Amino acid sequence: MSTGQSAGADTAAGTDTAAGTEYVDVLIVGAGLSGVGAAHHLADRFPGKSYLILEARDAIGGTWDLFRYPGVRSDSDMQTLGYRFRPWTQQKAIADGPSILEYVRDTATQAGIDRHIRFGHRVTGAAWSSAAAQWTVEATGPDGEPVRLRCGFLYVCSGYYRYDQGYSPAFPGADRFRGRIVHPQHWPADLDYTGKQVVVIGSGATAVTLVPALTDRAAQVTMLQRSPTYILTVPGEDPIANRLRSLAGDRFAYPVTRWKNVALATTLYQVSRRRPELVKKLIRAGLKRQLPDGYDLDTHFKPRYQPWDQRLCLVPDGDLFKAISAGKAAVATGQIETFTETGVQLTSGEHLDADVIVTATGLNLLLFGGMTLTVDGQPVDPPQTLAYKGMMLGGVPNFAFTIGYTNASWTLKADLVAEYVCRLLAHMDAHGQRICVPVDDDPGIERRPLLDFDAGYVLRSIDKLPKSGSRRPWRLGMSYAHDVLALRYGRVADGTMRFTGAGPAPAQAAPAGGLTPVSQPRPAAAGRR
Ligand SMILES: Cc1cc2nc3c(=O)[nH]c(=O)nc-3n(C[C@H](O)[C@H](O)[C@H](O)COP(=O)(O)OP(=O)(O)OC[C@H]3O[C@@H](n4cnc5c(N)ncnc54)[C@H](O)[C@@H]3O)c2cc1C
Repeated sequence: MSTGQSAGADTAAGTDTAAGTEYVDVLIVGAGLSGVGAAHHLADRFPGKSYLILEARDAIGGTWDLFRYPGVRSDSDMQTLGYRFRPWTQQKAIADGPSILEYVRDTATQAGIDRHIRFGHRVTGAAWSSAAAQWTVEATGPDGEPVRLRCGFLYVCSGYYRYDQGYSPAFPGADRFRGRIVHPQHWPADLDYTGKQVVVIGSGATAVTLVPALTDRAAQVTMLQRSPTYILTVPGEDPIANRLRSLAGDRFAYPVTRWKNVALATTLYQVSRRRPELVKKLIRAGLKRQLPDGYDLDTHFKPRYQPWDQRLCLVPDGDLFKAISAGKAAVATGQIETFTETGVQLTSGEHLDADVIVTATGLNLLLFGGMTLTVDGQPVDPPQTLAYKGMMLGGVPNFAFTIGYTNASWTLKADLVAEYVCRLLAHMDAHGQRICVPVDDDPGIERRPLLDFDAGYVLRSIDKLPKSGSRRPWRLGMSYAHDVLALRYGRVADGTMRFTGAGPAPAQAAPAGGLTPVSQPRPAAAGRR
């Protein structure tokens, strides 16, 4: 068993190896956008605390390093996808993947966070001991060797999907197809689609990004969708943001633009939920303007659901519609009967010729990077737990995770989670406490699915996620403004969050109605599922 020291860089500050296993105050899992941001907040607020990031891959950046398909880009504006503490200074508001990767990497190197990352370390499990007030974390090292570390606080920033495998339904006849089938999550560097007929299966953010991007070299690109999605054109550059930056500089312009964009996105979301017919009308009017006269909007761009039941797709400067209008791209809406030797046969009888088929069919959701958790020897079963403020689990001490918004930029929430974790640690330091745990002991709380969102990857895995509660602080909100109040300014000692010192196991030490081990949930009260 390695203590994980060998593969590390300069991570020794504050390290206590007295017990034979390396100890850090905070252990972060994942060096993507969230993990790097979390480390930045921590290092800034607590220069004296030791921390380490364990990263399964050999690179910083997570999503923005993994996805390499042509045209890969954000579909939310960089003023809100960027960190609160580091202004996005480029002209483009909808940025390409390599620029976002550079931004995350630069953030890590400039703050010296890269020296705290151990690459090639996949965390497989973590066990909490209340007696020791610490986690023992198990990982697999770069050569497959087991690695063990201890930490006072475990902070999981592992994203939300499987890295090794995108979601790919089994298509009948796929083995007959003589061309190449690729998934955007595993884009082959050698794929030359010059002069080829490409069919992209899907209608989500990835498909609408890929289709116009592939028209640069492909002979023809067809987006094949089972049913349409709401797609909205946004400016690739934000003229207000850029003007404000040139007049007042980044330090002033960035937070102002950030709040402007939050307000716009919130308004669009709220109006979509309350006046869906109005939003549908507006989106349709925009499409009419951008597509050729007589284009069959009803078949290809009239979704069966309401705006924001699923994520709204944004396209910068209408690039998808420009490609369609130029005749370089087309949309086909229908059911796949089978792949053939030369393309895709639809149930309607239509055949789409293809040399390359891209299955932009989505992601496989994965909670906590696939790691298992135990609390005082009892396994934690996430669906049996309630998520506290959408970032901790009821009954699981000294543990936080980052899952971003479904209706706004991920980083808005990631920053707030990091700020809250810092406040929590500061509170414990100030009061000489070592254990914090949200306690789910209100029998009036109803359990609900964590995400009220119909995207395929969510629906496929909703039963594996923690639950949301019917009331705060257990209710998962999707409103940044509310979360600013709750996470940045709300009371840390709110009655639900319980604190103890390093004494005996919390379950034994807790006062009546106090700490509840996760594995022994209280009996379901009326109204609970
Ligand atoms: C193609 C694409 C485009 C997107 N565009 C947007 C957008 O425009 N706006 C938006 O808000 N969101 C977008 N998202 C969501 C996006 O994932 C987030 O914005 C953000 O990048 C998530 O950052 P993260 O660090 O939380 O997770 P990730 O980027 O997934 O990084 C997680 C890291 O954790 C590591 N890890 C995972 N499990 C383990 C483990 N067990 N042990 C050790 N390390 C582990 C991974 O290797 C990875 O490096 C997009 C997602 C995709 C796939």
